[in-house]
Amino acid sequence: MANEQTDLELAKKLRDSGVLVEIQQELLPLNNGIIVVGCADGDQFCDRFDYLRQMLQDAGAQVRPHFITRHGGALRLVKDSPLNARGRQTDLDLLDEIEEAMSLKKIYTILLETHCKCGKCAHHGIDVETALALLTHAKERVLSSFNNVTVATICHVDWAPNRKRYYKFCQSAWLRHSGSVNRPQDTPKRVAPVRRGRYFFVPDAV
Ligand SMILES: [Zn+2]
Repeated sequence: MANEQTDLELAKKLRDSGVLVEIQQELLPLNNGIIVVGCADGDQFCDRFDYLRQMLQDAGAQVRPHFITRHGGALRLVKDSPLNARGRQTDLDLLDEIEEAMSLKKIYTILLETHCKCGKCAHHGIDVETALALLTHAKERVLSSFNNVTVATICHVDWAPNRKRYYKFCQSAWLRHSGSVNRPQDTPKRVAPVRRGRYFFVPDAV
């Protein structure tokens, strides 16, 4: 069963390994806004919204974060997700919501989000590493369901009161991290964190 302290320790290890890195917004097509599939957690919403608004403003884009929420966020896009009740079609319903959002808003950049500490994940015994593995499957599901979309995977971490951060989930680093126990040469070198607005990131060193 996941618990908060263990989850934060895991998140720190993933950050230090270059798996959770600064979001490179310049690589994302943001002009027309973004669709965000994320958790409904209202305790984290204001921080997440503030960041996304700043990101869009910094990019000179319209501030159009179009939120599609479920407890557990994008992890529920996975077929047979452990977060979905059996016999339901939550994954398909969410795909329908994304399709409808694209049709209604003409937004084709999709951010798939998980967060730590997520109450829904904890309730189901899903720690942050497992959540990121599920997020990988969620991305594959979306990419295989729609053409001409840009999909990014992101993770919000609530380290402490007034210390919350958004990170890009770097899947190439994740693969190295997963198999890096006996391959220390693959460990990304540590680089100095940088401040962007009130957010503080470790740059992507890989
Ligand atoms: Zn949550």
